[in-house]
Amino acid sequence: MTGVAVHLEGLRRTFGATHALDNLDLRIEPGELIALLGPSGCGKTTALRILAGLDDADAGRVLVGGKDVTGLPASKRGMGMVFQAYSLFPHLDAQRNVEFGLRLRGRKDAATRSAEMLELVGLAGFAKRFPHQLSGGQQQRVALARALAIEPQVLLLDEPLSALDAKVRVQLRDEIRRIQTEVGTTTLFVTHDQEEALAVADRVGVMKSGKLEQLAAPAEIYQKPATAFVADFVGLSNRLAGTVHGDVVEVLGTRLPLVTPHTGGSAVTALVRPEAVGVTPDATSEAKVLTASFLGPTSRVTVTAGDQLVVAQVPSGQLPSLTPGTAVRLELQPVPVALQD
Ligand code: ATP
Repeated sequence: MTGVAVHLEGLRRTFGATHALDNLDLRIEPGELIALLGPSGCGKTTALRILAGLDDADAGRVLVGGKDVTGLPASKRGMGMVFQAYSLFPHLDAQRNVEFGLRLRGRKDAATRSAEMLELVGLAGFAKRFPHQLSGGQQQRVALARALAIEPQVLLLDEPLSALDAKVRVQLRDEIRRIQTEVGTTTLFVTHDQEEALAVADRVGVMKSGKLEQLAAPAEIYQKPATAFVADFVGLSNRLAGTVHGDVVEVLGTRLPLVTPHTGGSAVTALVRPEAVGVTPDATSEAKVLTASFLGPTSRVTVTAGDQLVVAQVPSGQLPSLTPGTAVRLELQPVPVALQD
């Protein structure tokens, strides 16, 4: 199956004084998986619900496959949905849950299609189990099978992994990506978990206050955050004093490229990733290691340099030479940095 394009056009939605969506524009390409990422209350779920037909926008349009579906009820939009809370029918076994929508549509192949779908999500042997006989992860697999069984035009996933424990979450996240790629359904995935969004999506849309701050491939979101908000929300950043010279910013004696041109004054705060900071013992340097914590393959070292505290992520092999009090030289990799607004 080939996916359809989805276009959210100038969506506005207010609840009293709250602008849940503030002229939101988003185009999802056919077969693409876009993750909407943002803090609680930024409007992610509202966008998904308006696309689903579960809520109405105050202004704007929803186009699916080029067709304006703005006025259509949810039942006519051909959307498959999976929510955070397991929404399976408790009195139906896995097979019957998956068949439900197919039977509503009078599909004669409901039983075979349901079996195929359970196989697709890795639950071929679980058809006769009831929801209470399945783990949380298995229940979400059934919910995914049920959503895909009707061959939806669009798949909508609203925090589908939030209720699962960390290990199952990662497994199911990878499975969702594999299955979505296999079936090719255009998908919107709402999450507040940055790692999940980066891992699962073709493109990530970072939202703030009802608007998209940046829409880009995961690596670009991480490496070239368009705004300080994105740099801060996705990954960790040091806030370091810098001086702008044309199109570069000088931080701790190193000139770094800027993600976006800077028009304000020359004294700025640059957002520098901990993994872009190198730490080397150097008895002639005035910077000193304050703390060093082992975290696994990489470790976290904090260094005082003048009146600034710098966090570095270093290979753990370096840790023995970076005990607290050691004089060190800081070296910044010349990767593009965002500036604080
Ligand atoms: P979360 O991750 O917490 O679910 P979200 O990004 O999905 O957050 P939304 O649920 O879209 O955010 O809500 C956006 C804003 O609109 C919030 O300020 C929320 O309180 C408000 N809001 C959403 N639905 C309603 C409603 N039915 N009535 C009143 N306010 C609402």
